[in-house]
Amino acid sequence: METSIKENLENITKKLGSTKLVVVSKTRTIQELEEVYGLNFKCMAENRVQYLLDRYEQLPKDIEWHLIGHLQTNKVKFIAPFVQMIQSVDSAHLLEEINKQAIKNNRVIDILLQIYIAKEETKFGMDEQEALEILNNNFEAQYAGVRIRGLMGMASFTENQTQVRSEFKHLKNIYDKLNSTLNNRNINYFDTLSMGMSGDYEMAIEEGSTLVRIGSAVFAVDKE
Ligand SMILES: *Cc1c(COP(=O)(O)O)cnc(C)c1O
Repeated sequence: METSIKENLENITKKLGSTKLVVVSKTRTIQELEEVYGLNFKCMAENRVQYLLDRYEQLPKDIEWHLIGHLQTNKVKFIAPFVQMIQSVDSAHLLEEINKQAIKNNRVIDILLQIYIAKEETKFGMDEQEALEILNNNFEAQYAGVRIRGLMGMASFTENQTQVRSEFKHLKNIYDKLNSTLNNRNINYFDTLSMGMSGDYEMAIEEGSTLVRIGSAVFAVDKE
């Protein structure tokens, strides 16, 4: 059996419905990414600032770049001029720095608050209470350089489907609560729930994901 990036993307696209796909480009070659771009998939994500900068330099400028990995405040300035969305905002401190750099660049940067939903110790993120505190605090005026578009979360790395599903449900629940709070305040741009990767995106879509971040399932190519 032979598969290709093109077929992988076609198969994934069939399952998306209205969910948006971000192709995770980490560890892939420029040629592979050019192929994805050539197939008209122009939304890509990196988890490291240095790689994001390298790819931005080397690939066409109409790619929409997302950052999905932990971001140190001292590196925000490097990506602020061009990044479309920072999905991995895990503290109010980081949000303040993104706001500052966005304003410096005359931009408004879309961000997601990363919520900790996994059982593992190593994953970054905030809890519901921290997210609420950020969103309650007249944030539209306080953070004029960012638009808080929604939430991002990563489920545990486990074979236990029941656990993964319950983590997605938990995140969707927090998202719905925050969304209705914001709707009551006439804020209508909170519309993104980023959950689901190669191994669990179909389940994530069932549980209400609006954006999936997929790497391996796009690039896994068998030639036999
Ligand atoms: C690597 C990565 C992904 C994509 O993982 P795959 O299993 O290759 O699809 C998604 N989200 C984050 C935050 C990642 O670091």
